[in-house]
Amino acid sequence: MDFINNLLWHDGKLFGVDWSVWKCVGFAGTVIFFSRFLVQWYATEKRRQVVIPQAFWWLSLLGTLLLLAYSIHKRDSVFIISYAFAWIPYIRSLMIHREHKAAHTICTGCAKKIPPQSNYCPNCGVKVV
Ligand SMILES: [Zn+2]
Repeated sequence: MDFINNLLWHDGKLFGVDWSVWKCVGFAGTVIFFSRFLVQWYATEKRRQVVIPQAFWWLSLLGTLLLLAYSIHKRDSVFIISYAFAWIPYIRSLMIHREHKAAHTICTGCAKKIPPQSNYCPNCGVKVV
């Protein structure tokens, strides 16, 4: 029990950290940003091919905005520059995701959605007109 207690508490603080709202914002940003890799890895293993799901971009965006807020609070120019423009490709990827989804057509054979630029329905094989 003493071992676990020593592991958790240092100088009367949990993990020896000065907990504040901003510290929680920073840690939340880090955890959310890291979690995108788990989501991407899971999707890739599931499909057995490299896949970047839409959730990856949302987690990237949210994590980056939280870390940007934290870096501005800390007034650390290196940290601020690291996150100041990172959101741009995330927003663009989310826009492309949306455009791609909207460009799907409906199959005349099975009524399922067909990805854009398909010559044949991947579900039933009907030729796309
Ligand atoms: Zn079909």
